[in-house]
Amino acid sequence: MTCDEAIKLMDGYLDGELDPITSQAIEQHLRECGRCDQAYKTQGSLIRAIGNATPYFKAPAELRERIQSSLRKETTGQPVRNGVRGAQVQFHKRQPEPRSILSEIPWNWLGLAAAIILAAVIVLNVVPRLQRPGADQFLATQLIASHVRSLMANHLTDVASSDQHTVKPWLDTKLDFAAPVLDLSGDGFPLVGGRLDYLDNHSAAALVYQRRKHFINLFIWPTTPGDSKAQTMVARQGYHLLHWSDGDFTYWAVSDVALSDLQNFKQLFEQTTARR
Ligand SMILES: [Zn+2]
Repeated sequence: MTCDEAIKLMDGYLDGELDPITSQAIEQHLRECGRCDQAYKTQGSLIRAIGNATPYFKAPAELRERIQSSLRKETTGQPVRNGVRGAQVQFHKRQPEPRSILSEIPWNWLGLAAAIILAAVIVLNVVPRLQRPGADQFLATQLIASHVRSLMANHLTDVASSDQHTVKPWLDTKLDFAAPVLDLSGDGFPLVGGRLDYLDNHSAAALVYQRRKHFINLFIWPTTPGDSKAQTMVARQGYHLLHWSDGDFTYWAVSDVALSDLQNFKQLFEQTTARR
């Protein structure tokens, strides 16, 4: 089963309308495909949320009175002037207990209509945002993944040195740009080394700094016209990401240090590169 097929069959599956073989094929696909699995989960929780929030209105007593009096008039053969006429009234005339049913049915349909409109609004507005994360969100995910990988896989640096005069030439020979490499050990952010990375479809320099027992990955690549110039802060999964740009380069600092430490680091880096 392809992703397209799985997405097309989503409504039928979540409503339990599919045959067992198709359902099994979908479940198999969901085990293998994280994206579709996520889409199904999102849609499923939406359906549950809407089910729980379906409004239920009771008809006002005055309306009940009007319907009942018009019904009485009809059954006694009197002409109806201001009564509520229509399919429901005709239908319920034949019911044994018109009172309770009449007082609830039209308003339940209104509630259902409201729920359907609510569902449509949510699906149109919320789901696309969940399923198609913005470029920044996607980049943030890549940056965190790279930071975590560098700590987990014993691949913090390609060149391990606290000396910027060792790290910079090494990076310069591997990359087609000359990233600024600073020594900030005097300010409590010793340089640990450098690494090559590939992010957002281009090569990047990753400088690794230490803050007490924590590491900061600073990703640098030349600013391209599509890059955002805005300074950004993203907090996610216990990590902070700070983004800034100096015209030549785009910077993303990622770490689990306190936000104030990371902001301090960014400010030091920014000021020192600006002085050069
Ligand atoms: Zn899929």
